[in-house]
Amino acid sequence: VSGGGVAAFSDARPFQFGYADAAHDVKKKKVVVLGTGWAGTSFLKSLKDPSYDVHVISPRNYFAFTPLLPSVTNGTVEARSIVEPIRSIVRKKKFDVHFKEAECYKIDTVNKKVCCRSTQENNLGGSEEFTVDYDYLVIAMGARANTFNTPGVVEYAHFLKEVEDAQRIRRTVIDCFERASLPTVSEEEKKRILHFVVVGGGPTGVEFAAELHDFVNEDLAKLYPALKQHVKITLLEAADHILNMFDKRITEFAEEKFQRDGIDVKTGSMVVKVSDKEISTKERSSGKTVEIPFGMVVWSTGIGTRPVIMDFMKQIGQTNRRVLATDEWLRVEGCDSIYALGDCATINQRKVMEDIAAIFSKADENNSGTLKVDDFKGVIKDIAERYPQVQIHLKKNQLRNFLQLLKSKDGEDELNIEKFKQALAEVDKQMKSLPPTAQVASQQGVYLADCFNRMDICEKYPEGPIRFRAAGRHRFRPFRYKHFGQFAPLGGEQAAAQLPGDWVSIGHSTQWLWYSVYASKLVSWRTRLLVISDWGRRFIFGRDSSR
Ligand code: FAD
Ligand code: MG
Ligand code: MG
Ligand code: MG
Ligand code: MG
Repeated sequence: VSGGGVAAFSDARPFQFGYADAAHDVKKKKVVVLGTGWAGTSFLKSLKDPSYDVHVISPRNYFAFTPLLPSVTNGTVEARSIVEPIRSIVRKKKFDVHFKEAECYKIDTVNKKVCCRSTQENNLGGSEEFTVDYDYLVIAMGARANTFNTPGVVEYAHFLKEVEDAQRIRRTVIDCFERASLPTVSEEEKKRILHFVVVGGGPTGVEFAAELHDFVNEDLAKLYPALKQHVKITLLEAADHILNMFDKRITEFAEEKFQRDGIDVKTGSMVVKVSDKEISTKERSSGKTVEIPFGMVVWSTGIGTRPVIMDFMKQIGQTNRRVLATDEWLRVEGCDSIYALGDCATINQRKVMEDIAAIFSKADENNSGTLKVDDFKGVIKDIAERYPQVQIHLKKNQLRNFLQLLKSKDGEDELNIEKFKQALAEVDKQMKSLPPTAQVASQQGVYLADCFNRMDICEKYPEGPIRFRAAGRHRFRPFRYKHFGQFAPLGGEQAAAQLPGDWVSIGHSTQWLWYSVYASKLVSWRTRLLVISDWGRRFIFGRDSSR
Protein backbone atom coordinates (compact mmCIF):
# COMPACT_ATOMS: atom_id res chain seq x y z
CA VAL A 1 0.00 0.00 0.00
CA SER A 2 1.24 3.39 -0.87
CA GLY A 3 2.98 5.33 1.83
CA GLY A 4 1.53 4.18 5.10
CA GLY A 5 2.83 0.67 5.09
CA VAL A 6 0.45 -0.90 7.52
CA ALA A 7 1.75 -4.44 7.55
CA ALA A 8 -1.74 -5.73 7.84
CA PHE A 9 -2.84 -4.00 4.67
CA SER A 10 0.20 -4.85 2.66
CA ASP A 11 -1.20 -8.23 1.75
CA ALA A 12 -4.32 -6.67 0.34
CA ARG A 13 -3.48 -8.23 -2.98
CA PRO A 14 -4.82 -11.62 -2.28
CA PHE A 15 -4.62 -13.26 -5.66
CA GLN A 16 -1.45 -14.25 -7.43
CA PHE A 17 -1.48 -14.83 -11.12
CA GLY A 18 0.47 -17.49 -12.86
CA TYR A 19 -0.35 -16.32 -16.36
CA ALA A 20 0.72 -12.75 -16.72
CA ASP A 21 2.19 -13.17 -20.18
CA ALA A 22 -0.04 -13.15 -23.21
CA ALA A 23 1.13 -16.52 -24.50
CA HIS A 24 -0.59 -18.26 -21.66
CA ASP A 25 -3.74 -16.22 -21.73
CA VAL A 26 -5.40 -18.64 -24.11
CA LYS A 27 -5.09 -21.56 -21.77
CA LYS A 28 -7.94 -21.73 -19.30
CA LYS A 29 -6.92 -21.64 -15.68
CA LYS A 30 -7.78 -24.89 -14.02
CA VAL A 31 -9.73 -24.70 -10.78
CA VAL A 32 -9.97 -27.91 -8.77
CA VAL A 33 -12.64 -28.08 -6.07
CA LEU A 34 -12.42 -30.76 -3.39
CA GLY A 35 -15.79 -31.53 -1.82
CA THR A 36 -19.46 -31.10 -2.70
CA GLY A 37 -20.80 -30.08 0.69
CA TRP A 38 -22.06 -26.66 1.70
CA ALA A 39 -18.87 -24.79 0.92
CA GLY A 40 -17.95 -26.52 -2.34
CA THR A 41 -21.48 -26.47 -3.73
CA SER A 42 -22.12 -22.84 -2.91
CA PHE A 43 -18.79 -21.96 -4.57
CA LEU A 44 -19.78 -23.87 -7.70
CA LYS A 45 -23.25 -22.36 -7.80
CA SER A 46 -21.89 -18.81 -7.55
CA LEU A 47 -18.99 -19.21 -9.97
CA LYS A 48 -19.97 -17.39 -13.16
CA ASP A 49 -16.76 -16.62 -15.04
CA PRO A 50 -16.63 -19.07 -17.96
CA SER A 51 -12.87 -18.60 -18.39
CA TYR A 52 -12.09 -21.31 -15.86
CA ASP A 53 -11.69 -24.98 -16.45
CA VAL A 54 -13.49 -26.39 -13.40
CA HIS A 55 -12.93 -29.86 -11.96
CA VAL A 56 -14.77 -31.18 -8.93
CA ILE A 57 -13.67 -34.18 -6.88
CA SER A 58 -15.76 -35.65 -4.10
CA PRO A 59 -16.44 -39.16 -2.81
CA ARG A 60 -20.18 -38.36 -2.93
CA ASN A 61 -21.82 -37.35 -6.17
CA TYR A 62 -24.46 -35.31 -4.38
CA PHE A 63 -24.97 -32.36 -2.09
CA ALA A 64 -26.74 -33.14 1.19
CA PHE A 65 -28.87 -30.66 3.10
CA THR A 66 -27.38 -31.45 6.52
CA PRO A 67 -29.80 -29.43 8.72
CA LEU A 68 -32.48 -32.00 7.92
CA LEU A 69 -30.30 -35.05 8.69
CA PRO A 70 -31.76 -35.46 12.19
CA SER A 71 -35.21 -35.66 10.57
CA VAL A 72 -33.97 -38.49 8.37
CA THR A 73 -33.05 -40.59 11.42
CA ASN A 74 -36.71 -41.16 12.20
CA GLY A 75 -38.28 -40.95 8.79
CA THR A 76 -39.89 -37.50 9.19
CA VAL A 77 -38.06 -36.73 5.97
CA GLU A 78 -36.78 -39.29 3.48
CA ALA A 79 -33.07 -39.36 2.66
CA ARG A 80 -33.78 -38.92 -1.06
CA SER A 81 -35.59 -35.67 -0.35
CA ILE A 82 -32.56 -33.87 1.08
CA VAL A 83 -29.95 -34.74 -1.53
CA GLU A 84 -29.36 -33.21 -4.93
CA PRO A 85 -27.02 -34.77 -7.51
CA ILE A 86 -24.01 -32.52 -8.05
CA ARG A 87 -24.16 -33.24 -11.77
CA SER A 88 -27.63 -31.76 -11.98
CA ILE A 89 -26.56 -28.71 -9.96
CA VAL A 90 -23.67 -27.91 -12.31
CA ARG A 91 -25.49 -28.87 -15.49
CA LYS A 92 -27.27 -25.51 -15.36
CA LYS A 93 -23.98 -23.64 -15.63
CA LYS A 94 -22.99 -21.90 -18.81
CA PHE A 95 -19.64 -23.64 -18.82
CA ASP A 96 -18.46 -27.20 -18.33
CA VAL A 97 -17.78 -28.53 -14.90
CA HIS A 98 -16.11 -31.92 -14.75
CA PHE A 99 -16.98 -34.17 -11.85
CA LYS A 100 -15.06 -37.21 -10.59
CA GLU A 101 -16.40 -39.40 -7.82
CA ALA A 102 -13.27 -40.02 -5.79
CA GLU A 103 -11.57 -38.93 -2.62
CA CYS A 104 -8.43 -36.90 -2.53
CA TYR A 105 -5.84 -38.63 -0.37
CA LYS A 106 -2.88 -36.34 -0.95
CA ILE A 107 -2.31 -32.72 -1.89
CA ASP A 108 1.05 -32.17 -3.58
CA THR A 109 1.82 -28.44 -3.44
CA VAL A 110 5.24 -28.81 -5.07
CA ASN A 111 3.91 -30.29 -8.30
CA LYS A 112 0.53 -28.53 -7.95
CA LYS A 113 -1.57 -31.66 -8.17
CA VAL A 114 -3.93 -33.73 -6.04
CA CYS A 115 -3.83 -37.52 -5.79
CA CYS A 116 -7.23 -39.17 -5.88
CA ARG A 117 -8.68 -42.61 -5.36
CA SER A 118 -12.06 -43.87 -6.51
CA THR A 119 -14.33 -44.94 -3.69
CA GLN A 120 -15.55 -47.91 -5.68
CA GLU A 121 -13.69 -51.17 -6.04
CA ASN A 122 -12.50 -52.04 -9.54
CA ASN A 123 -12.59 -55.60 -10.88
CA LEU A 124 -9.08 -56.27 -9.58
CA GLY A 125 -10.22 -55.70 -6.03
CA GLY A 126 -8.37 -52.39 -5.74
CA SER A 127 -9.52 -48.90 -6.59
CA GLU A 128 -8.72 -46.62 -9.49
CA GLU A 129 -6.13 -43.97 -8.70
CA PHE A 130 -5.35 -40.83 -10.64
CA THR A 131 -3.90 -37.37 -10.23
CA VAL A 132 -5.34 -34.01 -11.20
CA ASP A 133 -3.19 -30.92 -11.57
CA TYR A 134 -4.46 -27.46 -10.72
CA ASP A 135 -3.77 -23.78 -11.10
CA TYR A 136 -6.08 -22.96 -8.22
CA LEU A 137 -7.11 -25.42 -5.56
CA VAL A 138 -10.27 -24.93 -3.49
CA ILE A 139 -10.30 -27.21 -0.46
CA ALA A 140 -13.85 -27.71 0.85
CA MET A 141 -13.79 -31.24 2.18
CA GLY A 142 -15.42 -30.57 5.53
CA ALA A 143 -14.48 -32.30 8.74
CA ARG A 144 -14.82 -35.70 10.33
CA ALA A 145 -16.62 -36.66 13.52
CA ASN A 146 -14.37 -36.20 16.54
CA THR A 147 -14.05 -39.15 18.91
CA PHE A 148 -11.37 -37.55 21.13
CA ASN A 149 -9.70 -40.98 20.79
CA THR A 150 -12.26 -42.46 23.15
CA PRO A 151 -11.91 -46.25 22.87
CA GLY A 152 -14.77 -48.13 21.21
CA VAL A 153 -16.51 -45.13 19.66
CA VAL A 154 -15.64 -45.97 16.06
CA GLU A 155 -16.57 -49.62 16.57
CA TYR A 156 -19.78 -49.35 18.58
CA ALA A 157 -21.28 -45.87 18.26
CA HIS A 158 -23.17 -44.26 15.40
CA PHE A 159 -22.15 -40.88 14.04
CA LEU A 160 -24.65 -38.46 12.59
CA LYS A 161 -22.68 -36.74 9.87
CA GLU A 162 -23.56 -38.25 6.52
CA VAL A 163 -26.79 -39.36 4.89
CA GLU A 164 -25.76 -43.01 5.30
CA ASP A 165 -25.34 -42.43 9.05
CA ALA A 166 -28.89 -41.14 9.35
CA GLN A 167 -30.27 -44.10 7.39
CA ARG A 168 -28.30 -46.55 9.52
CA ILE A 169 -29.59 -44.95 12.72
CA ARG A 170 -33.17 -45.23 11.47
CA ARG A 171 -32.74 -48.96 10.76
CA THR A 172 -31.01 -49.56 14.09
CA VAL A 173 -33.85 -47.95 16.09
CA ILE A 174 -36.41 -50.18 14.39
CA ASP A 175 -34.12 -53.21 14.83
CA CYS A 176 -33.95 -52.52 18.55
CA PHE A 177 -37.75 -52.46 18.82
CA GLU A 178 -38.14 -55.68 16.84
CA ARG A 179 -35.44 -57.46 18.81
CA ALA A 180 -36.97 -56.37 22.10
CA SER A 181 -40.28 -57.85 20.91
CA LEU A 182 -38.91 -61.37 20.58
CA PRO A 183 -40.35 -63.84 23.11
CA THR A 184 -36.97 -65.07 24.34
CA VAL A 185 -35.72 -61.67 25.47
CA SER A 186 -35.77 -61.05 29.24
CA GLU A 187 -37.17 -57.90 30.81
CA GLU A 188 -33.74 -56.70 31.74
CA GLU A 189 -32.44 -57.28 28.24
CA LYS A 190 -35.44 -55.39 26.82
CA LYS A 191 -34.51 -52.42 28.99
CA ARG A 192 -30.96 -52.52 27.68
CA ILE A 193 -31.94 -52.84 24.04
CA LEU A 194 -34.38 -49.96 24.30
CA HIS A 195 -31.95 -47.64 26.03
CA PHE A 196 -30.87 -45.00 23.50
CA VAL A 197 -27.87 -42.93 24.49
CA VAL A 198 -26.92 -39.66 22.80
CA VAL A 199 -23.44 -38.30 23.52
CA GLY A 200 -23.03 -34.55 23.12
CA GLY A 201 -25.44 -31.78 24.12
CA GLY A 202 -24.77 -29.52 21.14
CA PRO A 203 -27.44 -28.58 18.60
CA THR A 204 -27.16 -31.87 16.67
CA GLY A 205 -27.25 -34.16 19.72
CA VAL A 206 -30.16 -32.23 21.22
CA GLU A 207 -32.14 -32.21 17.99
CA PHE A 208 -31.56 -35.92 17.48
CA ALA A 209 -32.66 -36.75 21.04
CA ALA A 210 -35.81 -34.67 20.51
CA GLU A 211 -36.58 -36.32 17.16
CA LEU A 212 -36.07 -39.77 18.65
CA HIS A 213 -38.38 -38.94 21.54
CA ASP A 214 -41.10 -37.80 19.13
CA PHE A 215 -40.68 -40.93 17.01
CA VAL A 216 -40.95 -43.20 20.03
CA ASN A 217 -43.93 -41.44 21.58
CA GLU A 218 -45.93 -40.48 18.53
CA ASP A 219 -45.41 -43.55 16.37
CA LEU A 220 -43.59 -46.49 17.93
CA ALA A 221 -45.56 -46.44 21.20
CA LYS A 222 -48.70 -47.24 19.20
CA LEU A 223 -47.06 -50.03 17.25
CA TYR A 224 -45.20 -51.60 20.17
CA PRO A 225 -47.52 -50.83 23.13
CA ALA A 226 -45.92 -53.49 25.32
CA LEU A 227 -42.49 -51.93 24.98
CA LYS A 228 -43.25 -48.32 25.75
CA GLN A 229 -42.50 -48.67 29.47
CA HIS A 230 -38.99 -49.97 28.72
CA VAL A 231 -37.86 -47.18 26.41
CA LYS A 232 -35.36 -44.70 27.76
CA ILE A 233 -33.41 -41.87 26.15
CA THR A 234 -30.31 -40.48 27.85
CA LEU A 235 -28.36 -37.43 26.77
CA LEU A 236 -24.78 -37.24 28.06
CA GLU A 237 -22.94 -33.93 28.15
CA ALA A 238 -19.48 -33.30 29.63
CA ALA A 239 -20.11 -29.62 30.41
CA ASP A 240 -22.58 -28.23 32.94
CA HIS A 241 -25.33 -27.42 30.45
CA ILE A 242 -26.63 -28.49 27.08
CA LEU A 243 -26.76 -26.05 24.14
CA ASN A 244 -23.85 -24.07 25.52
CA MET A 245 -23.53 -21.83 22.49
CA PHE A 246 -27.08 -20.57 22.88
CA ASP A 247 -28.63 -17.96 25.14
CA LYS A 248 -29.27 -19.05 28.75
CA ARG A 249 -33.03 -18.84 28.24
CA ILE A 250 -32.85 -21.42 25.46
CA THR A 251 -30.64 -23.74 27.49
CA GLU A 252 -33.02 -23.54 30.43
CA PHE A 253 -36.09 -24.09 28.30
CA ALA A 254 -34.50 -27.09 26.58
CA GLU A 255 -33.37 -28.68 29.84
CA GLU A 256 -36.81 -28.24 31.40
CA LYS A 257 -38.62 -29.52 28.34
CA PHE A 258 -36.42 -32.61 28.16
CA GLN A 259 -37.03 -33.25 31.84
CA ARG A 260 -40.80 -33.08 31.32
CA ASP A 261 -40.49 -35.34 28.29
CA GLY A 262 -38.59 -37.92 30.32
CA ILE A 263 -35.31 -37.54 28.42
CA ASP A 264 -32.60 -38.08 31.01
CA VAL A 265 -30.08 -35.26 30.64
CA LYS A 266 -26.85 -36.12 32.45
CA THR A 267 -24.51 -33.13 32.47
CA GLY A 268 -20.98 -33.28 33.83
CA SER A 269 -20.51 -36.81 32.54
CA MET A 270 -17.58 -37.59 30.30
CA VAL A 271 -17.65 -40.73 28.24
CA VAL A 272 -14.39 -42.65 28.70
CA LYS A 273 -15.14 -45.87 26.86
CA VAL A 274 -17.75 -47.58 24.71
CA SER A 275 -18.07 -51.35 24.40
CA ASP A 276 -20.64 -53.44 22.55
CA LYS A 277 -23.28 -53.27 25.28
CA GLU A 278 -22.07 -50.69 27.78
CA ILE A 279 -20.92 -47.13 27.81
CA SER A 280 -18.64 -45.93 30.63
CA THR A 281 -18.80 -42.38 31.86
CA LYS A 282 -16.88 -40.49 34.46
CA GLU A 283 -19.15 -38.34 36.63
CA ARG A 284 -17.57 -35.03 37.47
CA SER A 285 -19.52 -34.58 40.73
CA SER A 286 -18.52 -37.87 42.31
CA GLY A 287 -15.39 -38.71 40.32
CA LYS A 288 -16.80 -42.20 39.87
CA THR A 289 -16.96 -44.22 36.67
CA VAL A 290 -20.43 -45.48 35.83
CA GLU A 291 -21.30 -48.23 33.37
CA ILE A 292 -24.53 -47.76 31.43
CA PRO A 293 -26.02 -50.61 29.37
CA PHE A 294 -27.40 -49.46 26.00
CA GLY A 295 -29.04 -50.63 22.80
CA MET A 296 -27.78 -47.84 20.59
CA VAL A 297 -25.32 -44.96 21.04
CA VAL A 298 -25.20 -41.87 18.83
CA TRP A 299 -21.97 -39.90 19.07
CA SER A 300 -22.23 -36.21 18.36
CA THR A 301 -19.46 -34.34 20.14
CA GLY A 302 -18.16 -32.06 17.44
CA ILE A 303 -15.72 -32.22 14.59
CA GLY A 304 -12.04 -32.89 13.95
CA THR A 305 -9.55 -32.48 11.12
CA ARG A 306 -9.40 -35.09 8.36
CA PRO A 307 -6.13 -37.05 8.07
CA VAL A 308 -5.45 -35.80 4.53
CA ILE A 309 -5.66 -32.21 5.79
CA MET A 310 -3.35 -33.08 8.69
CA ASP A 311 -0.77 -34.37 6.19
CA PHE A 312 -1.21 -31.27 4.08
CA MET A 313 -0.67 -29.04 7.12
CA LYS A 314 2.60 -30.81 7.91
CA GLN A 315 3.70 -30.35 4.33
CA ILE A 316 3.14 -26.59 4.34
CA GLY A 317 4.52 -25.97 7.80
CA GLN A 318 1.29 -25.48 9.76
CA THR A 319 2.56 -28.04 12.24
CA ASN A 320 1.45 -26.89 15.64
CA ARG A 321 -2.15 -26.15 14.74
CA ARG A 322 -5.18 -28.38 15.00
CA VAL A 323 -7.16 -26.76 12.20
CA LEU A 324 -5.99 -25.58 8.80
CA ALA A 325 -5.50 -21.79 8.90
CA THR A 326 -6.35 -19.30 6.18
CA ASP A 327 -6.22 -15.52 6.09
CA GLU A 328 -9.36 -13.40 5.72
CA TRP A 329 -9.30 -13.91 1.96
CA LEU A 330 -9.56 -17.66 2.56
CA ARG A 331 -6.04 -18.22 1.20
CA VAL A 332 -4.29 -21.07 2.98
CA GLU A 333 -1.43 -19.60 5.00
CA GLY A 334 1.93 -20.60 3.61
CA CYS A 335 0.71 -21.57 0.11
CA ASP A 336 0.10 -20.02 -3.26
CA SER A 337 -3.19 -20.37 -5.12
CA ILE A 338 -4.76 -22.64 -2.53
CA TYR A 339 -7.96 -21.68 -0.75
CA ALA A 340 -9.80 -23.46 2.04
CA LEU A 341 -13.31 -22.87 3.31
CA GLY A 342 -16.04 -24.39 5.42
CA ASP A 343 -15.49 -26.87 8.23
CA CYS A 344 -12.03 -27.96 7.06
CA ALA A 345 -10.45 -24.58 7.80
CA THR A 346 -10.51 -21.63 10.12
CA ILE A 347 -9.69 -17.98 9.52
CA ASN A 348 -6.64 -16.87 11.44
CA GLN A 349 -7.73 -13.41 12.52
CA ARG A 350 -5.13 -10.78 13.20
CA LYS A 351 -4.90 -9.14 16.58
CA VAL A 352 -5.01 -5.35 16.66
CA MET A 353 -2.44 -5.37 19.44
CA GLU A 354 0.06 -7.20 17.26
CA ASP A 355 -0.23 -4.65 14.48
CA ILE A 356 -0.68 -1.64 16.73
CA ALA A 357 2.49 0.18 15.72
CA ALA A 358 1.68 -0.19 12.03
CA ILE A 359 -1.91 0.96 12.54
CA PHE A 360 -0.67 3.98 14.47
CA SER A 361 1.80 5.08 11.84
CA LYS A 362 -0.85 4.51 9.18
CA ALA A 363 -3.14 6.98 10.93
CA ASP A 364 -0.25 9.31 11.69
CA GLU A 365 0.30 10.32 8.10
CA ASN A 366 2.95 12.98 8.68
CA ASN A 367 4.97 10.83 11.06
CA SER A 368 4.69 13.30 13.91
CA GLY A 369 4.57 10.61 16.56
CA THR A 370 1.30 11.93 17.88
CA LEU A 371 -2.18 11.45 16.59
CA LYS A 372 -5.07 13.84 16.44
CA VAL A 373 -8.45 12.30 17.02
CA ASP A 374 -9.47 13.56 13.59
CA ASP A 375 -6.62 11.64 11.98
CA PHE A 376 -7.91 8.56 13.62
CA LYS A 377 -11.46 9.19 12.43
CA GLY A 378 -10.10 9.22 8.90
CA VAL A 379 -8.77 5.71 8.98
CA ILE A 380 -11.15 3.99 11.37
CA LYS A 381 -13.23 2.58 8.53
CA ASP A 382 -10.29 0.89 6.90
CA ILE A 383 -9.10 -0.49 10.19
CA ALA A 384 -12.56 -1.83 11.00
CA GLU A 385 -12.70 -3.58 7.67
CA ARG A 386 -9.45 -5.35 8.27
CA TYR A 387 -10.11 -6.08 11.95
CA PRO A 388 -13.75 -7.09 12.49
CA GLN A 389 -13.27 -6.90 16.25
CA VAL A 390 -12.90 -3.11 15.95
CA GLN A 391 -16.29 -2.88 14.32
CA ILE A 392 -17.92 -5.00 17.02
CA HIS A 393 -16.21 -2.91 19.68
CA LEU A 394 -17.39 0.31 18.09
CA LYS A 395 -20.92 -0.98 17.86
CA LYS A 396 -20.96 -1.78 21.54
CA ASN A 397 -19.21 1.36 22.72
CA GLN A 398 -20.35 3.90 20.15
CA LEU A 399 -17.85 5.83 18.12
CA ARG A 400 -18.32 9.06 20.06
CA ASN A 401 -17.53 7.48 23.42
CA PHE A 402 -14.64 5.70 21.89
CA LEU A 403 -13.16 8.89 20.50
CA GLN A 404 -13.72 10.51 23.87
CA LEU A 405 -11.65 7.76 25.38
CA LEU A 406 -8.94 8.37 22.86
CA LYS A 407 -8.56 11.93 24.03
CA SER A 408 -6.26 12.23 26.97
CA LYS A 409 -7.71 13.11 30.31
CA ASP A 410 -6.52 16.71 30.36
CA GLY A 411 -8.63 17.55 27.35
CA GLU A 412 -5.81 17.44 24.87
CA ASP A 413 -6.92 15.85 21.67
CA GLU A 414 -3.57 14.34 20.80
CA LEU A 415 -2.35 10.94 21.76
CA ASN A 416 0.89 9.06 21.48
CA ILE A 417 1.28 5.38 20.79
CA GLU A 418 1.06 4.38 24.45
CA LYS A 419 -2.29 6.07 24.90
CA PHE A 420 -3.42 4.68 21.59
CA LYS A 421 -2.59 1.20 22.84
CA GLN A 422 -4.56 1.78 26.02
CA ALA A 423 -7.57 2.94 24.08
CA LEU A 424 -7.57 -0.16 21.91
CA ALA A 425 -6.56 -2.57 24.66
CA GLU A 426 -10.00 -4.12 25.00
CA VAL A 427 -10.69 -4.51 21.31
CA ASP A 428 -9.14 -7.95 20.74
CA LYS A 429 -11.46 -9.41 23.36
CA GLN A 430 -14.18 -9.17 20.73
CA MET A 431 -12.46 -11.70 18.50
CA LYS A 432 -14.42 -14.87 17.97
CA SER A 433 -13.72 -17.67 15.56
CA LEU A 434 -16.53 -18.57 13.22
CA PRO A 435 -18.67 -21.61 14.07
CA PRO A 436 -18.53 -24.74 11.88
CA THR A 437 -21.93 -24.23 10.31
CA ALA A 438 -23.58 -24.46 6.92
CA GLN A 439 -24.26 -20.76 7.18
CA VAL A 440 -20.56 -19.92 7.38
CA ALA A 441 -19.54 -22.50 4.75
CA SER A 442 -22.08 -21.33 2.18
CA GLN A 443 -21.27 -17.64 2.67
CA GLN A 444 -17.59 -18.43 2.23
CA GLY A 445 -18.39 -20.30 -0.98
CA VAL A 446 -20.29 -17.30 -2.37
CA TYR A 447 -17.51 -14.95 -1.30
CA LEU A 448 -14.73 -16.96 -2.90
CA ALA A 449 -16.65 -17.45 -6.14
CA ASP A 450 -17.18 -13.70 -6.25
CA CYS A 451 -13.42 -13.17 -5.93
CA PHE A 452 -12.82 -15.66 -8.75
CA ASN A 453 -15.47 -13.96 -10.89
CA ARG A 454 -13.75 -10.60 -10.49
CA MET A 455 -10.18 -11.79 -10.59
CA ASP A 456 -9.44 -10.08 -13.91
CA ILE A 457 -10.70 -6.69 -12.83
CA CYS A 458 -9.10 -6.94 -9.46
CA GLU A 459 -5.80 -7.71 -11.05
CA LYS A 460 -5.81 -4.22 -12.50
CA TYR A 461 -6.45 -2.65 -9.11
CA PRO A 462 -4.35 -4.68 -6.77
CA GLU A 463 -3.69 -1.78 -4.41
CA GLY A 464 -5.19 -1.74 -1.00
CA PRO A 465 -8.23 -0.01 0.35
CA ILE A 466 -6.82 3.49 0.83
CA ARG A 467 -5.61 4.85 -2.46
CA PHE A 468 -8.15 3.18 -4.64
CA ARG A 469 -11.13 3.78 -2.52
CA ALA A 470 -12.91 5.19 -5.55
CA ALA A 471 -12.24 1.91 -7.33
CA GLY A 472 -13.35 0.02 -4.27
CA ARG A 473 -15.63 -2.11 -6.33
CA HIS A 474 -12.62 -3.66 -7.96
CA ARG A 475 -10.81 -4.93 -4.96
CA PHE A 476 -11.12 -7.97 -2.81
CA ARG A 477 -12.57 -7.16 0.53
CA PRO A 478 -11.73 -9.66 3.23
CA PHE A 479 -14.42 -12.25 3.97
CA ARG A 480 -17.00 -11.01 6.43
CA TYR A 481 -19.56 -13.34 7.99
CA LYS A 482 -23.15 -12.22 8.42
CA HIS A 483 -25.01 -14.10 11.11
CA PHE A 484 -28.71 -14.67 10.50
CA GLY A 485 -29.42 -16.54 13.69
CA GLN A 486 -29.54 -20.15 14.75
CA PHE A 487 -32.30 -22.64 15.47
CA ALA A 488 -32.54 -25.46 17.97
CA PRO A 489 -35.50 -27.76 17.23
CA LEU A 490 -36.60 -29.30 20.53
CA GLY A 491 -39.29 -31.77 19.52
CA GLY A 492 -43.06 -31.77 20.06
CA GLU A 493 -43.43 -29.15 17.32
CA GLN A 494 -41.42 -26.67 19.36
CA ALA A 495 -38.18 -24.96 18.53
CA ALA A 496 -35.95 -22.23 19.89
CA ALA A 497 -34.24 -19.58 17.82
CA GLN A 498 -31.55 -17.11 18.64
CA LEU A 499 -31.61 -14.28 16.17
CA PRO A 500 -29.15 -11.42 15.71
CA GLY A 501 -29.26 -8.78 18.41
CA ASP A 502 -29.81 -11.45 21.07
CA TRP A 503 -33.40 -11.95 20.07
CA VAL A 504 -34.72 -15.17 21.49
CA SER A 505 -37.88 -16.88 20.38
CA ILE A 506 -39.16 -20.19 21.69
CA GLY A 507 -42.21 -22.32 21.09
CA HIS A 508 -44.61 -23.61 18.45
CA SER A 509 -44.51 -20.51 16.29
CA THR A 510 -40.72 -20.80 16.18
CA GLN A 511 -41.13 -24.32 14.86
CA TRP A 512 -43.19 -22.86 12.00
CA LEU A 513 -40.52 -20.29 11.41
CA TRP A 514 -38.07 -23.22 11.28
CA TYR A 515 -40.21 -25.04 8.70
CA SER A 516 -40.38 -22.00 6.48
CA VAL A 517 -36.73 -21.02 6.77
CA TYR A 518 -35.48 -24.51 5.97
CA ALA A 519 -37.96 -25.01 3.16
CA SER A 520 -36.74 -21.78 1.60
CA LYS A 521 -33.09 -22.74 2.01
CA LEU A 522 -33.37 -26.05 0.19
CA VAL A 523 -31.21 -26.11 -2.92
CA SER A 524 -33.76 -26.91 -5.59
CA TRP A 525 -37.49 -26.86 -6.22
CA ARG A 526 -37.39 -30.63 -6.49
CA THR A 527 -35.98 -31.14 -2.98
CA ARG A 528 -38.23 -28.39 -1.63
CA LEU A 529 -41.31 -30.14 -2.97
CA LEU A 530 -40.14 -33.51 -1.68
CA VAL A 531 -39.38 -32.23 1.82
CA ILE A 532 -42.65 -30.33 2.12
CA SER A 533 -44.62 -33.37 0.98
CA ASP A 534 -42.68 -35.53 3.47
CA TRP A 535 -43.74 -33.13 6.22
CA GLY A 536 -47.33 -33.27 5.03
CA ARG A 537 -47.31 -37.05 4.90
CA ARG A 538 -45.93 -37.17 8.43
CA PHE A 539 -48.69 -34.88 9.73
CA ILE A 540 -51.39 -37.04 8.16
CA PHE A 541 -50.11 -40.61 8.40
CA GLY A 542 -47.28 -40.43 10.93
CA ARG A 543 -43.81 -41.73 10.28
CA ASP A 544 -43.02 -44.95 8.47
CA SER A 545 -41.57 -47.50 10.86
CA SER A 546 -40.67 -50.31 8.51
CA ARG A 547 -37.07 -51.23 8.31
P1 FAD B 1 -19.44 -30.69 4.21
O1 FAD B 1 -20.78 -30.14 3.95
O2 FAD B 1 -19.28 -31.75 5.23
O3 FAD B 1 -18.87 -31.18 2.82
C1 FAD B 1 -17.65 -31.84 2.69
C2 FAD B 1 -17.57 -32.43 1.30
O4 FAD B 1 -16.26 -32.93 1.07
C3 FAD B 1 -18.52 -33.60 1.11
O5 FAD B 1 -19.05 -33.53 -0.18
C4 FAD B 1 -17.60 -34.80 1.25
O6 FAD B 1 -18.10 -35.92 0.57
C5 FAD B 1 -16.34 -34.26 0.61
N1 FAD B 1 -15.11 -34.96 0.99
C6 FAD B 1 -14.83 -35.59 2.13
N2 FAD B 1 -13.60 -36.11 2.09
C7 FAD B 1 -13.08 -35.79 0.89
C8 FAD B 1 -11.83 -36.06 0.25
N3 FAD B 1 -10.87 -36.76 0.86
N4 FAD B 1 -11.63 -35.58 -1.00
C9 FAD B 1 -12.60 -34.88 -1.64
N5 FAD B 1 -13.79 -34.60 -1.07
C10 FAD B 1 -14.03 -35.04 0.18
N6 FAD B 1 -25.22 -26.00 10.02
C11 FAD B 1 -26.11 -24.98 10.05
O7 FAD B 1 -25.73 -23.85 9.73
N7 FAD B 1 -27.41 -25.17 10.44
C12 FAD B 1 -27.87 -26.40 10.80
O8 FAD B 1 -29.04 -26.55 11.14
C13 FAD B 1 -26.96 -27.50 10.77
N8 FAD B 1 -27.38 -28.74 11.12
C14 FAD B 1 -26.52 -29.79 11.02
C15 FAD B 1 -26.97 -31.05 11.34
C16 FAD B 1 -26.13 -32.15 11.24
C17 FAD B 1 -26.63 -33.51 11.57
C18 FAD B 1 -24.78 -31.96 10.81
C19 FAD B 1 -23.84 -33.12 10.70
C20 FAD B 1 -24.33 -30.68 10.52
C21 FAD B 1 -25.18 -29.59 10.62
N9 FAD B 1 -24.73 -28.29 10.32
C22 FAD B 1 -25.62 -27.25 10.36
C23 FAD B 1 -23.32 -28.04 10.01
C24 FAD B 1 -23.08 -28.04 8.53
O9 FAD B 1 -23.57 -29.20 7.93
C25 FAD B 1 -21.59 -27.97 8.24
O10 FAD B 1 -21.05 -26.86 8.89
C26 FAD B 1 -21.35 -27.84 6.75
O11 FAD B 1 -21.74 -29.03 6.12
C27 FAD B 1 -19.91 -27.54 6.42
O12 FAD B 1 -19.77 -27.46 5.03
P2 FAD B 1 -18.46 -28.01 4.31
O13 FAD B 1 -18.67 -27.80 2.87
O14 FAD B 1 -17.27 -27.43 4.94
O15 FAD B 1 -18.43 -29.56 4.65
MG1 MG C 1 -17.86 -28.58 0.74
MG1 MG D 1 -23.10 -30.80 3.18
MG1 MG E 1 -18.77 -31.11 7.56
MG1 MG F 1 -14.47 -22.99 9.03
